[in-house]
Amino acid sequence: MLTAITGINWGDEGKGRMVDLLSRDYDVVVRYQGGNNAGHTVVNERGKFILNLLPSGILRDEVVNVMGNGMVIDLEHLHGEMGRLREGGIEITPKHLKISDKAVICMPYHKQQDCLEEDRLGDAKYGSTRRGIAPVYGDKYMKKAIRMGDLLEMDKLKERLRGIVEWKSLTFTGVYGADPINYEEMVAWLERYGEEFRPYICDTSLFLDEAEKAGKKILFEAQLGALRDIDFGIYPYTSSSSTIGAYAPIGSGIPNHKLDLSIGVMKAYSTCVGEGPFTCELFGEEAENLRKAGGEYGAATGRPRRVGPFDVPASRYGVRMQGADEIALTKMDVLSGFETLPVCVAYEVDGVRTTNFPTGAALDRAKPVIEYVPGWNCDITGCRSWDELPKAAQDYILYLEKAVNCPIKYVSVGAEREQYLVR
Ligand code: GDP
Ligand code: MG
Repeated sequence: MLTAITGINWGDEGKGRMVDLLSRDYDVVVRYQGGNNAGHTVVNERGKFILNLLPSGILRDEVVNVMGNGMVIDLEHLHGEMGRLREGGIEITPKHLKISDKAVICMPYHKQQDCLEEDRLGDAKYGSTRRGIAPVYGDKYMKKAIRMGDLLEMDKLKERLRGIVEWKSLTFTGVYGADPINYEEMVAWLERYGEEFRPYICDTSLFLDEAEKAGKKILFEAQLGALRDIDFGIYPYTSSSSTIGAYAPIGSGIPNHKLDLSIGVMKAYSTCVGEGPFTCELFGEEAENLRKAGGEYGAATGRPRRVGPFDVPASRYGVRMQGADEIALTKMDVLSGFETLPVCVAYEVDGVRTTNFPTGAALDRAKPVIEYVPGWNCDITGCRSWDELPKAAQDYILYLEKAVNCPIKYVSVGAEREQYLVR
């Protein structure tokens, strides 16, 4: 049984929260793309945890977690993240965590390159998290990357690293006027973290293939959302990886298996971190009220998130790209107390109304068509069944379900593990 949990929107939909909940029925949780450029916040009986690189299943002792070949891994960050979790009482051993030998290492110079480029761009910046993600994926496709498996053969790696450092230093000095990269420092960095992570590195493709064949249940956890996908998102304001469910078997090392279930996590309103077109964006006091109600500040960066009403064209597109079979609607409780709720029901592009999501330059010209629906005034964080929801909340959910044409199965009414209901 292979299930993917993905983001329908721009990210931060609450995927970590849903993985934490649903992983109780799974044996293995896999992250298949991205690096530490985003964060999943999970609140459960063990505490509050922020996960950037580790799969959210790490919070359950009995679950095996895999960091797949599609990921990029900053070893220093992983070291820190594991340390913080262990302080919080989470046990992490090679029994709990397996790292793909084909996952790519995000080196200190990738972070530096990310910063140099964002600074060079000035006002035209991409809004990168400056964690080195675009440069390291770039190097992967240039075939100049270092993979986790290379740490198992340090002598060979040191030899290859010499050429890579020489090549990258040309960019640093020639393009940015920065200092060349210090080879010895990079060797020391790799040796230090290589020592720590060597026991976790293995052929996770083989592990997952055998697990699947033995009838184990595997859950794929996506980072970011459909609108940040490198191919189908709001390019170039996307992430540098494939955030869609169809990529999960590939980024995990088992392209010979197909997804059985795709669960799209969709937020009851919209948020977007960083630059790029965000058609439904709210400003001023209206935005501030929603941002405060939802606590919309980035888990990885602390940046205030841009906010807007639920966006029908964007979410319909997200549902299609994710191939979602069912939806987990999150943060419904945040909308309590607003007398009326705006919904972006369509876009107007060059005078034509559409519910299809435009891509490319047409998206920059899109204007939101807003309609208002009734809100509800009571606290819904204690609701555990459909019948307990106020009529206006039920109507809002039914409205969204129809608008995106996908059944909403789970409704989350709070950040804590048990604050949800199933329809
Ligand atoms: P992810 O990147 O998709 O995993 O989402 P984030 O963790 O970055 O952002 C979601 C935030 O909303 C986190 O702080 C969660 O704890 C919180 N959250 C998730 N679901 C709910 C919900 O239903 N209600 C409320 N109030 N908070 C939620
Ligand atoms: Mg997030």
